[in-house]
Amino acid sequence: MAITEIPGGHGWAVPLAVGDAVRLVNTFGSQVVDTWALARHDTSEYLSVEHTRRMIANLFPGQGDIFYSNRRSKMLSLEKDTAPGRHDMLFACCDKWLYQHYGCAPGHRTCRDNFLQALFAAGFDANFVPNPVNLWMNIPVSADGHVGIEPPVSRPGDEVVLRALMDVLVVFSACPMDVTPINGPDRTPRPVYAEVLVQAAS
Ligand SMILES: [Zn+2]
Repeated sequence: MAITEIPGGHGWAVPLAVGDAVRLVNTFGSQVVDTWALARHDTSEYLSVEHTRRMIANLFPGQGDIFYSNRRSKMLSLEKDTAPGRHDMLFACCDKWLYQHYGCAPGHRTCRDNFLQALFAAGFDANFVPNPVNLWMNIPVSADGHVGIEPPVSRPGDEVVLRALMDVLVVFSACPMDVTPINGPDRTPRPVYAEVLVQAAS
């Protein structure tokens, strides 16, 4: 299937049938990608990082882990993860209020807007914005509970494969953050690319 480039700072939604997968490649290694999944039959069921943290008993998802919904159903598996860690399941996506907090001019792109726009473009709606899985986002947690905001440890070409365990809509946002170093020390959003891997008919 065709490869889709997601420009730095922009979003994209893709429907997956159960058994299909999407491969996401961190072209430059430095890009954080906020990732959501919603059940296509009922978007009030969504990938919940809060439920997932409980079900996998970890703050950080790794290869082989399952992402669960807010009804504790299995939604996606992290079938492949070539990066040496790490992904975040603690932080909300960036939004206009965060950029206001940093003193940015109005109109800054946000992952929240990217999520809503990509969802609408795909013909879906949402009553609220769930907290995402922030792929490649490096938010280390120290023993005293302090959370850091660090550049990714991923490398150019690192990839993940997310396999659908139900019919889902997956939404990606190549995060537009250019204030903190989460998209690398030069604080520059860059493109990533995605490829849908359709399950072979048996
Ligand atoms: Zn963002």
